[in-house]
Amino acid sequence: MLGGNEVEYVMDCLETNWISSAGKYIPAFEELFAQHCGVKYGVACANGTVALHLALATLGIGPGDEVIIPTFTMIATANAVTYTGARPVLVDSEMRTWNMDVDQLEAKVTEKTKAIMPMHTYGHPVYMDTVWEIAEKYGLYVVEDAAESHGAEYKGRRTGGLGDAGCFSFYANKIITTGEGGMITTDNEEIARLASNLRDHAFSEERHFWHKYLGFNYRMTNLQAAVGLAQTERFEEFVQRRRDNAYYYTSLLKDIPGITTPPEESWAKSVFWMYSILLDDEFGLSRDELRRRLAERGIETRTFFIPIHLQPIYFRAFKGERYPVAEELCKRGLYLPSASSLTKREIEYIVEQVARCREQG
Ligand SMILES: *Cc1c(COP(=O)(O)O)cnc(C)c1O
Repeated sequence: MLGGNEVEYVMDCLETNWISSAGKYIPAFEELFAQHCGVKYGVACANGTVALHLALATLGIGPGDEVIIPTFTMIATANAVTYTGARPVLVDSEMRTWNMDVDQLEAKVTEKTKAIMPMHTYGHPVYMDTVWEIAEKYGLYVVEDAAESHGAEYKGRRTGGLGDAGCFSFYANKIITTGEGGMITTDNEEIARLASNLRDHAFSEERHFWHKYLGFNYRMTNLQAAVGLAQTERFEEFVQRRRDNAYYYTSLLKDIPGITTPPEESWAKSVFWMYSILLDDEFGLSRDELRRRLAERGIETRTFFIPIHLQPIYFRAFKGERYPVAEELCKRGLYLPSASSLTKREIEYIVEQVARCREQG
């Protein structure tokens, strides 16, 4: 949904020649987005994956270290850890929220553990009290992978502000988009300062072209930030739309046998980044068969993530480890169309077609 001030702000960049990574839209976007997350600082960067890498690099995580992540996540969570030279350590999911099972966290802590990276799956926050407790007990950093959870709340606090650093993606299918983009959010001034320095080749202040740290070029352009600022002006509207659409879907789907609608715990406000369902035998059709039939009717869907331990690039590293809940989610889960722009009529049509596919047996 690009119908706000996006065109005006991008035209302003073009007309004034501020098209690179200097320009007024970058700090304006960082400030407004951080405000919506309830934190002081935002560090905009090229995408969500590098936001994760930059956050870990800023915290000094590297070879010999371990970072605990859920196995049920998008590949970038694990890759960001791998880029630093550290090793991802996996935790299974739990069925209530589809998030990392925090009760299994402590067993994964070793002397090498440096950080926990909770990922708020499909917009539902992780149960953070246990994450904080373990982080405190063992002196670990908490870096949120908040790429799917713009505006989600844990006990009244927004994701992105629940750890030492939060990492967002603004890829085109995320709740706020810049086309490609990402941001680190934090309340820690030192983390914000170091992250913005590392993002820009770690240029030193005392002398130009003088580098004391291994930096990166992970900058965002003013053009992207112009889109991001316009999007962020509508932040609360987009969050509300996701939530309204999800509740409407759930009200229509809840009586169809064999479908589990997405969770929302009493302590959580989910933003339903993807409206996700689980199918079981009672539904009568396999997940993949439903997907095929919906596609024939012009309805695009996606199957759930394939867990990290089953990925060809990580298969060897986690050989012999089993994560049964994540594997079950992978087999049974499907997301239905979830755009903020969906109309009630479109949601009704989609649910009608799901019911029809089932009735045809
Ligand atoms: C989208 C996503 C990312 C990566 O973001 P990009 O902007 O595509 O690099 C990372 N983690 C999770 C959980 C995501 O869903």
